[in-house]
Amino acid sequence: MNDFKQLGLGKHITERLLKEGISVPTPVQESAIPKVFEGTDLIVQAMTGSGKTLSFILPILEGIQPGAQEIQALVVTPTRELALQITEETKRFSGPNVNVLAVYGGQDVEKQLKKLEKSVDIAIGTPGRILDHLRRGTLKLEKLRFLILDEADQMLHIGFLSEVEKIIESSSPERQTLLFSATMPEGVRKLAKKYIKNPEYLQLESTQGPAKSVKQTAVYTTDRTKLGDLKGIINEQRPFMAVIFCRTKRRAEKLADQLTAEGYSCAELHGDLSQAKREKVMQRFRKAEFQLLVATDIAARGLDVEGVTHVINYDIPLDAQSYVHRIGRTGRAGMGGVAITLISQKDKDLLVSIEKELQITINKKSALPNEKAVDSRDISDNKDKDRKHGDKRKLDKNRKSRQKTAFASASRKKNISKRPSEKKSSSRSGRYGNR
Ligand code: ADP
Ligand code: MG
Repeated sequence: MNDFKQLGLGKHITERLLKEGISVPTPVQESAIPKVFEGTDLIVQAMTGSGKTLSFILPILEGIQPGAQEIQALVVTPTRELALQITEETKRFSGPNVNVLAVYGGQDVEKQLKKLEKSVDIAIGTPGRILDHLRRGTLKLEKLRFLILDEADQMLHIGFLSEVEKIIESSSPERQTLLFSATMPEGVRKLAKKYIKNPEYLQLESTQGPAKSVKQTAVYTTDRTKLGDLKGIINEQRPFMAVIFCRTKRRAEKLADQLTAEGYSCAELHGDLSQAKREKVMQRFRKAEFQLLVATDIAARGLDVEGVTHVINYDIPLDAQSYVHRIGRTGRAGMGGVAITLISQKDKDLLVSIEKELQITINKKSALPNEKAVDSRDISDNKDKDRKHGDKRKLDKNRKSRQKTAFASASRKKNISKRPSEKKSSSRSGRYGNR
């Protein structure tokens, strides 16, 4: 097993990693970091929560020259939340001389412009705002050395493709291009070859399925009893923290209102909120200030929040990729997690197609009889106590043991550059439409 030094990282970065308790590279880091140093263009597929972010951030931090007056690395992400998260992660490991800037919509353009006047070394953002700055001439990519598409299959999906194409066309032909995702359908890989030269495909798992550490169940429900069944699940499972996914902004808003009215500790996250609210909600969730995040698919990709023990699909996801990413919000960094998908009669075919595409069988259960669904107020009374004294202790313990165990999975079987069980990606138009 390699350590980070053996992968080619310098003293400063390895020391910073150690300070954060990170000493053993994950399998994707072991495979990708040396390849990034070699200068190879990469398409990397590795499970949700397996440490893909550091596998591009760390070699980039070694590879750039701070203060060169030109942007040297650009990371493109599908959501503002993910852009901010990666910005924070980058700042954790970059030295004081490296300028890292998040570039995303909903935030004051003037403020971003001011920062762009200074020398920015690494920019991390969403396509719309990046293009905005390219058009204004405030962001120049002629000297770009690294272009990263995180959640690359989504970035090359129709909703984002034309914007991402323009970003690619504006960036230096000398750049190195790196694509990362937990799901990399063959169509996307073919398409990617249009933009990148002789990419090497690193596939870390033999199938592109959900994280193995997540225990998955589907629970039968009906539209009429869905809310009661959800409450039954929450009351029975007592998640430390959970993300509850809804199909639309409206439904997320309504469900969050209903749960709040019944005394649950929850907040909503979707595209109808102001940027300030979106940021506040994520900050509070990261501090475990509330228990249930009711969200649309804007929370499905990339978000890494410690303490999320459960993902509940209140509405079934529309395709297999979305299922993999949603439930990947738990079971991260070697921890366990639980994913529960509520299924009404009309969702059954979709569930079958998700199972078929991912080659998995999801355990099915009926909902708890309603009388067993304890009154939520009983739970709220106990919840704080439970979370503080029970699960919180477990969380702290898990945090400590994580370094030992999480990436002992480094010994997991690797299957690099072999063909996965190729499946065509089910098409989904639009970007976030009503999400
Ligand atoms: P992915 O992008 O593959 O879904 P992330 O990059 O978000 O996963 O990483 C998941 C979590 O694992 C993060 O909290 C990250 O800080 C942590 N992590 C990454 N690499 C390591 C490592 N080598 N050792 C311990 N924790 C790690
Ligand atoms: Mg990621």
